[in-house]
Amino acid sequence: SLVGKTALVTGSTSGIGLGIARSLAAEGANICLNGFGDLQEIAALRAAIEHEFQVKTIYSNADMTQTSQIAEMMTQAQNEFGGVDILVNNAGIQHVAAIEDFPVEKWDAIIAINLSSAFHTTRLALPSMRAKNWGRIINVASVHGLVASAQKSAYVAAKHGLVGFTKTTALETADSAITCNAICPGFVLTPLVQKQVDARAERDNISNEEAKKSLLSEKQPSGEFVTPEQLGALAVFFCSDAATQIRGVAWNMDGGWVAQ
Ligand code: NAD
Repeated sequence: SLVGKTALVTGSTSGIGLGIARSLAAEGANICLNGFGDLQEIAALRAAIEHEFQVKTIYSNADMTQTSQIAEMMTQAQNEFGGVDILVNNAGIQHVAAIEDFPVEKWDAIIAINLSSAFHTTRLALPSMRAKNWGRIINVASVHGLVASAQKSAYVAAKHGLVGFTKTTALETADSAITCNAICPGFVLTPLVQKQVDARAERDNISNEEAKKSLLSEKQPSGEFVTPEQLGALAVFFCSDAATQIRGVAWNMDGGWVAQ
């Protein structure tokens, strides 16, 4: 059980981050939510988590491109809950374009949100984890941390970087009860992927359902999306005592994508 622990999940107002936050709350962890969105909807997400799982939540709107806002978020978690025991670096964005057409500001934003923010949260979370000699750091990378796809240069670079950062973090904490691992999802039907489905439906003049099938059939042998709930269950396992000696892995949950 994670009762008495605090989990901070970046980018948890939607998609995978929200799924992981809810799974950790179901085990009893208090939750620090982060991400963008409609404030009333976010208040409703918090109320639902608090009511369903009898835990406390806080919310930070910190922008993961802004180092000072990340620091404020970590201070807020320290003040409210006495530190972060479980850090899930999940915030991420995607942009699809060929390298020579890739908008420079999109490259910078993807590296900042998908990679550098994990460095900042980790460096600020480690002191209190070390003081308590317990911690779990889970980096939500991607199959694109293990293999590449065309048109996703910034994302692939950031996610490969995040897998590398995961290994270094695991080594630097190897003599403690703090572990660091990465989760590498295949396609999950979140707003991030729905954009790619919409682009394909428009490009090929096909329906939403056909575009989903077509996207999956290119990469994901199961032909089915991974779900945020399945990823949440893997995160819960990484937090368990049984996972204490799992350190520095990049674990794919991808319907067979990387097996090919
Ligand atoms: P999503 O768009 O549903 O959620 C992204 C979350 O990040 C939202 O809460 C959003 O508000 C937040 N966010 C975006 N920019 C931010 C910023 N600058 N500062 C703070 N928060 C910000 O996307 P998702 O699919 O749930 O993606 C979550 C993570 O999973 C990402 O790192 C993504 O790369 C990764 N991932 C997704 C898939 C997939 O198929 N959906 C596959 C592999 C990996």
